Amino acid sequence: MVQMKKNLSFLAFLGLAVVFGLSGCGIFGTESSESDSALKPLDATFSIYANDPAPNDSLKTHLSTGVLMRVYPGGEYTLSFDADADHDAPKLLLYRLTSQDLETFTIGSQTKNLTATDSAGRWVYHFDCGESSMAYWGTVLVEDGEYYTGSLNNLRFEGVGTNSLHLKLNLIVVGSYGGTSDDVSLDSLSRLMLEHFRSAFSAGGIVVDTLYVHRASERTDLSTAYPDNEPWLAGKYSDDFFVTEVGGWPNSEAEPDIYNALDLVLVHRIEKTGVLGYSALFSGNLGGGLGSTVVVGTHYLENNSKESSQSALQIVLTAVHESGHFFGLRHTTSTTSEMMSSLDQSNYHDGLDDTPFCGALVPLMANSEISADLLDMPSEVMPRIYLEKKVTSCPDALNPMFPVSADNPEETEDFTEDQLALVAKMLQLYTH
Ligand SMILES: [Zn+2]
Repeated sequence: MVQMKKNLSFLAFLGLAVVFGLSGCGIFGTESSESDSALKPLDATFSIYANDPAPNDSLKTHLSTGVLMRVYPGGEYTLSFDADADHDAPKLLLYRLTSQDLETFTIGSQTKNLTATDSAGRWVYHFDCGESSMAYWGTVLVEDGEYYTGSLNNLRFEGVGTNSLHLKLNLIVVGSYGGTSDDVSLDSLSRLMLEHFRSAFSAGGIVVDTLYVHRASERTDLSTAYPDNEPWLAGKYSDDFFVTEVGGWPNSEAEPDIYNALDLVLVHRIEKTGVLGYSALFSGNLGGGLGSTVVVGTHYLENNSKESSQSALQIVLTAVHESGHFFGLRHTTSTTSEMMSSLDQSNYHDGLDDTPFCGALVPLMANSEISADLLDMPSEVMPRIYLEKKVTSCPDALNPMFPVSADNPEETEDFTEDQLALVAKMLQLYTH
């Protein structure tokens, strides 16, 4: 099933829909004391991310009856769309949603009831977060007591935060350090990691202060033991590919401010063919718990179930790529497997103006459980998928957010201006 060259490996991300099992999720309860006549979100299957430039066509269909919105303390938000001449401007109602598992949500109190302002032919809603920690809200648009049915053309959702552009990194080694194909020590790898993170993000005004190296074996407070004398296979020794419980490294007297660092988890390998690293898209959790880790392997599984090791540079570039996802960067060109599992078929590119697009999906299937034959898919479901193209000839093949690692990693290009601007915006929104 996996259609990749032996020497090509995936830089995978899991969108929130996959990571947190949001597919088909719904809202099953209510604890609200609002009057029954107030319209409430009916669904939270689709997510709206602040500052996401991707097309997100599905949001136009579902915003009125409910999409999941994540908001951060101190964030100032603006939602806007083109005015519809056949309708009055709807009210935007926002409800708190709570969830144990992010699969089912309970509707809590209404937190906002907003009237649009009219600005140059657009309806605009401004609001602040007003929460004390990251929160999930559900949306409703109401016109004359009914769910709004007008158009939502050129929908935009922008978020501005005031958090620092400084970022710290934790490199958390889980299990034994398996080394690199070029025999680089953990100490040298960690220096290379810090150097590359600094240079990758500095043009966006982001300052990577420092990198701390930790061993998961140091943690005696976790439910899983991570002995440092054997290789850790993420997704095999525990179901959690993300090794979430090591995220949110505790502060100590010597390291008083590392709980809110970005947690890069280094494992021996990820137990999925060809996968070099994982992050959730717009993960946005610089503390502990779900979505707080980015995972990278020193090794990876090849097609033939044999194992290959990565060079130090490739490991570092994988970590940079996955961190890009963490801060909201999508692949410059989506892969076939992403489109198969995506709930929104319009997001076959990242939506940024200055990143090239390959013109067709990158024909890679990251997960063998996806078994549909692409050629049997009707074209309206999978637009532009049929063009065959060698991935190395894609104009974005050397962008850090291309889904396949470069044959010669040293040729990898810098992030574009638009990519860095998005990362900087999200870093200022994310609590840290
Ligand atoms: Zn990726």
